[in-house]
Amino acid sequence: MKRVKSISQMKEISENWRKEGKKIAFVPTMGFLHEGHLSLVRLGKKLGDKLVVSIFVNPLQFGPAEDFREYPRDLERDAALLEKEGVDVLFCPEAEEMYPPGFQTYVEVAELTKGLCGAYRPGHFKGVTTVVLKLFNIVKPHLAIFGEKDYQQLQVIKRMVKDLNLDVEIVGHPTVREKDGLAMSSRNTYLSEEERESALSLFKALNFAQNLVKEGERDVAVLKKKLKEFIESHPFTKVQYIEFVDPSELTPVEKVEKETLCALAVFVGKARLIDNMLIKP
Ligand code: AMP
Repeated sequence: MKRVKSISQMKEISENWRKEGKKIAFVPTMGFLHEGHLSLVRLGKKLGDKLVVSIFVNPLQFGPAEDFREYPRDLERDAALLEKEGVDVLFCPEAEEMYPPGFQTYVEVAELTKGLCGAYRPGHFKGVTTVVLKLFNIVKPHLAIFGEKDYQQLQVIKRMVKDLNLDVEIVGHPTVREKDGLAMSSRNTYLSEEERESALSLFKALNFAQNLVKEGERDVAVLKKKLKEFIESHPFTKVQYIEFVDPSELTPVEKVEKETLCALAVFVGKARLIDNMLIKP
């Protein structure tokens, strides 16, 4: 596996692969890799002839009061994991090269970013779409893989690709969970043992929602109230949002009459965790 820091070197490698007719698969990450990331990597390995994984903790997508500084990092451990998976290039640029002095151009998906996480993390998705478009221009992938764990992010990126006519196929990958249901996340490392126990309430709440709907409850106001009570009956938890939205437009629904996305964000101690599930009536 080649480790590449420089943008020009990454571009050159990809240009050469393209000339050779290779199909380039790409998995962008912020590192501190877990089995969720590695599942995306394995899918990339299957779908492309060449596989690039990026590790870049993107300062642009963190708010001033968020965890950019504390975000867990371990490049050597990550590199060893990726090497084992047969990744061709690990691209890990420096923030100084990605955002040199004078940088002032951003990409914004206007509507899909208004609700859910976008409502609580102003500027977050603008940071995500800007860095992802930059990474696409540098890595020049034919396809890129994103996790459904970050459901809104996946929809936002699909929209950007469509709206800007980018020649990249966006492939979604189902959420990878621990045996007990906790969605894997680099931020799970913030959890103490007791907090981790409480963090299970997110997945349990999503299943609870599915069961309530199956038993006939359709009223979103009622569902939200029950889920919030359930989650906050666990110590260290504070619900940021529980939303039921149309799975493609991400607009709120009042009644669960068709397949609906239930998405939640919950603080467990200082860790802000998200999870989601498609609920079928
Ligand atoms: P991150 O490093 O958190 O920015 O995540 C990089 C990519 O991995 C994103 O596309 C995420 O949606 C995806 N990802 C993170 N956690 C999981 C998970 N538990 N299951 C599936 N995909 C995930």
